[in-house]
Amino acid sequence: MKVLVINAGSSSLKYQLMDPDTEEVFAKGLCERIGIDGRLTHKVPATDGKYEFEIAMPTHAEAIQAVLDALTSPEHGVIKSMDEIDAVGHRVVHGGEKFACSVKIDQAVMDALEECIPLAPLHNPANITGIRACQNVMPNVPMVGVFDTAFHQTMPAKSYIYALPYEYYENDKVRRYGFHGTSHKYVAGRAAAMLGCPIEELKIITCHLGNGSSVSAVDSGKSVDTSMGFTPLAGVPMGTRSGDLDAGILEYLMNKYGYDMKKMMNVLNKESGVLGISGVSSDFRDIETAAEQGNQRAALALEAFQYSVKKLVGAYAAAMGGVDAIVFTAGVGENDGNTRMAIASGLEFMGVKMDAQANNVRGKEAVISAADSKVKVLLIPTNEELMIARDTAEIVGK
Ligand code: ADP
Repeated sequence: MKVLVINAGSSSLKYQLMDPDTEEVFAKGLCERIGIDGRLTHKVPATDGKYEFEIAMPTHAEAIQAVLDALTSPEHGVIKSMDEIDAVGHRVVHGGEKFACSVKIDQAVMDALEECIPLAPLHNPANITGIRACQNVMPNVPMVGVFDTAFHQTMPAKSYIYALPYEYYENDKVRRYGFHGTSHKYVAGRAAAMLGCPIEELKIITCHLGNGSSVSAVDSGKSVDTSMGFTPLAGVPMGTRSGDLDAGILEYLMNKYGYDMKKMMNVLNKESGVLGISGVSSDFRDIETAAEQGNQRAALALEAFQYSVKKLVGAYAAAMGGVDAIVFTAGVGENDGNTRMAIASGLEFMGVKMDAQANNVRGKEAVISAADSKVKVLLIPTNEELMIARDTAEIVGK
């Protein structure tokens, strides 16, 4: 089976054509600068081919057409015709409370996605546009929506409720939703496989640490708590996002500097996090280099990030009444051994014992705790595209 996975952003569109059973990736790539001019980077792993094109992309429709042209091109294509695409899986950021699992897209689902726009005004319109563009060029191909929020819909009310007047939840759907669900679910599943234990018998803390970061408590395969909230701004400090803070700071800064809400949110989303503390970069590699060269603020940014994740590990172990495995994934989690060590060290009191040598590894599945560690610490590269392709194949196959 060949599944096309689409991840549409406001001005970009990532794609992968893969077989979810063999996990073979036939082609993948990225459309950028949609609505500006348009650039397509198309890669064919089997031949190590990389192709770049300037193609006018006034809308996502032209971007999708460019992807299909690339996939079926006689020179750098991987299929003879569009008919070889059995299904399309779309990443959708926000499914609200409506979607607790992936679904086949029909008109009712499209209407529900529209209803979720106020919850994710930046992301969902781009996802919807991507779906429509695909439907227009591939009207007969079944499509599935896979939601970032779905995996966390199992959270109990005590985890997702904010201590605000209850009507904001009832009337306005203000609650914790959580994000990165596809990634947390994938690595939790892989962790169970690596440990050779049914996921129903495991308490796992998954740390998705990338440019955006979130930590989740996964008990018996179900998300029971997660650090992102109503929006992806919450939780640990991120590349440029503040993570959790005292809401009173907003009033103080807005009054003092005459900021409007748009400016304030821009500060919190784009100028904060490890970039804000360090003043150096949002990229952990740059910050680590600066810290090694003696930059105190860069060192503080790293410490604040690591401390914040460590606190959540403790909190989620308490929430679940124990922990069997801690998983690191995403850009920082997969590549940055120093950060993994800083987070997971000093936790011997709760049965976590790292192995420095085993932790000296990047980008591949590995056990990085000591052989006698009660809690296993694992490095597991995430694969959201595979998860989307699998869900899509399963739902379309039904
Ligand atoms: P996104 O949230 O955009 O998907 P990724 O999961 O791709 O982010 O993570 C990107 C981040 O991973 C980069 O910003 C960088 O800080 C970090 N990263 C990548 N490689 C390394 C490395 N070798 N050491 C430390 N950090 C790294």
